[in-house]
Amino acid sequence: MNKGKYLQKWIGCFLIIGLLSSATHKEYINHADPYTIYLTFDDGPLHGSENIATAITKENIKVNVFVVGQHIQNSPQLKGYFNEYLVNPMIEVGNHSFSHAHNKYQLYYSNANSVYVDFLKCYNEYKLPTKLCRLPGRNMWRTATIKHNDMPSGSAAADLLYQNGFKIIGWDLEWEHDAPTSSPVQTGDDMVYLIETHLKNGTTRVKNHLVLLSHDEMFSKGWEQSELDQLVDKLKATGNFKFEFLSTLPGL
Ligand SMILES: [Zn+2]
Repeated sequence: MNKGKYLQKWIGCFLIIGLLSSATHKEYINHADPYTIYLTFDDGPLHGSENIATAITKENIKVNVFVVGQHIQNSPQLKGYFNEYLVNPMIEVGNHSFSHAHNKYQLYYSNANSVYVDFLKCYNEYKLPTKLCRLPGRNMWRTATIKHNDMPSGSAAADLLYQNGFKIIGWDLEWEHDAPTSSPVQTGDDMVYLIETHLKNGTTRVKNHLVLLSHDEMFSKGWEQSELDQLVDKLKATGNFKFEFLSTLPGL
């Protein structure tokens, strides 16, 4: 092969590779259904609330919190965190009951009406801006399109709340924490892998949407905030994730 033909052949190869890689890239960017993630924080206001607010302000993303009335009542400092939640445009506030069942779930859910009254107390007393709810200790869902129970206990209470206009949102994946220290079990990196796996495998309640549960107290020591930053930065870097409020979940 002479030098000219040799060069022509290589230029042709580069053009084909270039076209193929740009086609793949284009397909990735124009993914018809980008993933939507809903970061949710339960049990606040507690001593992680400030760090959560700092992280999401820095990252400029939307998140949901599910608050416990008893915690708001507990101290002026916690009430202050709650008031900051209410005025922060990047935080949507939902109801996680007044009492958090006093952590006696079986007993709490044995009386559906008293569960309803407990949620109503939190909603009315703190003038919550949404009727989004999460049940303490239960991964249950009641929306226009989803009805899911993780166990029988709590089902009647979930039905009663839904019949009275509340929407109940559970979760697809939990960022777990170690009970004695409250520290996150998985790193931010671990969570990115788990989130992508669930979405790719279609194991979420709403296809291409994932609700992530985490807890306020996981972020109380400060260092964990960098894990949260890492999670958000890595998801953003994929170019394929939107962070949204639960009030926009399809089929609500
Ligand atoms: Zn809780």
